Amino acid sequence: MEQNQDEKRPSRRLNLILAVVLCAVVVLCLVLLWVQRSRQETGTVAKVWLDGQVVLTFDLGDYEESTLVDLEPVTGRTAKVELKDHQIRFVQVDCPDHVCEGYGFLSQVNQTAVCMPNRLVITVEEAP
Ligand SMILES: [Zn+2]
Repeated sequence: MEQNQDEKRPSRRLNLILAVVLCAVVVLCLVLLWVQRSRQETGTVAKVWLDGQVVLTFDLGDYEESTLVDLEPVTGRTAKVELKDHQIRFVQVDCPDHVCEGYGFLSQVNQTAVCMPNRLVITVEEAP
């Protein structure tokens, strides 16, 4: 009997060590994932410029679901931006060329979209 217990002990300790290591790995993965996610979500802001002045700033980390924002109240221009999946783009802009809408979604730092006729610009920058 005593011998049996002695034989069991090391394997039980090994199981415990394995369980602890496994837990540590899982926790580490979760932490890394969380750090990466929070870094991505707080990392970039989009600024809407009118005539060289910032009129709106969006923290792209806050926008996951598609959100339409009307720029008319702040810019006086018939234009909207869509925020989705931490990206931003011009939509429903009242300009003849619609080049601005052609830029598509912006999400990377230093990306810009310009609407020349309306003198509107979107820039993506690192969060302060
Ligand atoms: Zn345009």
